[in-house]
Amino acid sequence: MGGPPPILEFEDLWAGYGDVPALRGVSLAVDEGRVLALLGPNGGGKTTALRVAAGLLAPWAGRVRLAGRALGGVAVADLARMGVCLIPEGRGVFPNLTVRENLLMTTGAGAPAARVTKIACERFPSLTSRQDQLAGTLSGGEQQMLALARALVTDPALLLLDELSMGLAPRIVEQIYTVVGELAAAGVAVVAAEQFAQTALGVADRVAVMVNGSIVIEGSPEEVRPRLADAYLSRDRQDLTQEGRPR
Ligand code: ATP
Repeated sequence: MGGPPPILEFEDLWAGYGDVPALRGVSLAVDEGRVLALLGPNGGGKTTALRVAAGLLAPWAGRVRLAGRALGGVAVADLARMGVCLIPEGRGVFPNLTVRENLLMTTGAGAPAARVTKIACERFPSLTSRQDQLAGTLSGGEQQMLALARALVTDPALLLLDELSMGLAPRIVEQIYTVVGELAAAGVAVVAAEQFAQTALGVADRVAVMVNGSIVIEGSPEEVRPRLADAYLSRDRQDLTQEGRPR
C-alpha cells in the first residue's frame, strides 16, 4: 500500500484507427525510475501505445493516468510541461539544424542556452565538439544520442522511446541503452518500444510483449526472455479476424 502512483498507467485501454483496433484492452504501469521494454513484432501496437501515452491519439475506451492524473482532455503542450517526452521512430532530430539549434529548439524560450548545452554535453561528451554540425550529418548513433539529449534537457518524468535501435550497430545500441539506464537511475520512467532489440532487456525492469494489440506476456526480463521466440511466432497463430470493439 501507499507509495506514489505509477508515472504512466493504462487500464483496459482500447485505441485504433478508423474502425480498426490497434490496442485491445491493454493494461500496463511504469513507476518512477523504471524501464518498461515494450516488445513485439511489426504491427503489434507498440507505436500506438506510445502515441496514446503522449496524448497524440485519443483512446476509444479505458483509462490513461499520468502520475495518478487522468489524461483525458490534457492538451499535448500541457503534457510536455508535465514532463512527457516522445522520441518517435526514425530519429527525433531536425536534420537541417545544427546540434546546438536542435538542443535550443527543445527548450523554447525558457531555459538559458548555456545551461541547455552544458546539460547535454555533460551526458553526451561526443556532442561537445559538434555543436555547429548539421544534425543530419551525424552518424545514426549520434543522432539518437542527440535525440536523447534533447529529451534530457526538458527534464522529463516520462520518456517514450520508439525503436531507438533501428538501423544501428549492436555496439551503438548498447551505448544508447546504457544512457537510457542512467536516465532511469536518475528517476525518469521509460517505455522503450522495440521490435527486435533485446538490448532493451538489459536495462528493463519489466517487459511486456504486444501481439495484435494485446499484451501476451508480461514479467521480469528473466521471466520473459526464454518465452520471447514463442510470443513472436504466436502472431501467426492468432485469429486475425477478431472483431474490434465498437467505438
Ligand atoms: P511497428 O514496429 O511496425 O511500428 P507497432 O507494434 O508499433 O509496429 P503500430 O504501429 O502501433 O504497431 O500498429 C498497430 C496496428 O495499427 C497495425 O495493424 C497498423 O497497421 C495499424 N496502424 C498504425 N498506424 C495507423 C494509421 N495511421 N492508420 C491506420 N492504421 C494504422
